[in-house]
Amino acid sequence: MTPAFSLCVYCGSRPGNSPVFEAVATEVGRWIGEHDGQLVYGGGNNGLMGLLADATLAAGGRVVGVIPAALVEREFAKRDCTELHVVENMHQRKSLMAERADAFLALPGGIGTFEEFFEAWTWRQLGYHAKPIGLLDTGGYYAAMLAFLRKSVSHGFMSEWQMGLITIGADAPSLLEKLVTDAGDAPQRMETSKI
Ligand code: AMP
Repeated sequence: MTPAFSLCVYCGSRPGNSPVFEAVATEVGRWIGEHDGQLVYGGGNNGLMGLLADATLAAGGRVVGVIPAALVEREFAKRDCTELHVVENMHQRKSLMAERADAFLALPGGIGTFEEFFEAWTWRQLGYHAKPIGLLDTGGYYAAMLAFLRKSVSHGFMSEWQMGLITIGADAPSLLEKLVTDAGDAPQRMETSKI
């Protein structure tokens, strides 16, 4: 069965130190599964990544994991993904993840999550894709980062229209609903040749 939508989720390979983070990863995975969706993610079994994929599968969703061979060798791969793609390097991973997604969502995470979120955003501002990008600000985790981004606007390094390219929310179901709806209205082409 073709999934109703395909959502690329970036999140921590660690669980964080508050139960709210684990709870939100599970909530997002369950929502994807219950809405006949497909999760595209980094293919890992640790931290929020593993919880998210488990919850998606448990709720009947498809899970596409994309992981570099080096991480598979370190036994970080989640073997029971619906599709597990082992690629050569991080560039291939991120490009395939972006290609397979209708929209992007970042949950709480660390440096890997930040990098992936900012990359999807940068590709969007350059016009490489027109897919919606969401940031889930669980428990105000991203408040300081968002304040800094607004400072960047006030200091003239960013524009309001760039801020307008991301959708920020603290409530997972309403943010997911918006991303999926917006994805339906956006062209799905990803110009991976430009990356
Ligand atoms: P971080 O936010 O630093 O925990 O990194 C999470 C992101 O980086 C994920 O979305 C993955 O793409 C990648 N990543 C980092 N560590 C791992 C791991 N152990 N297994 C799989 N992917 C990982």
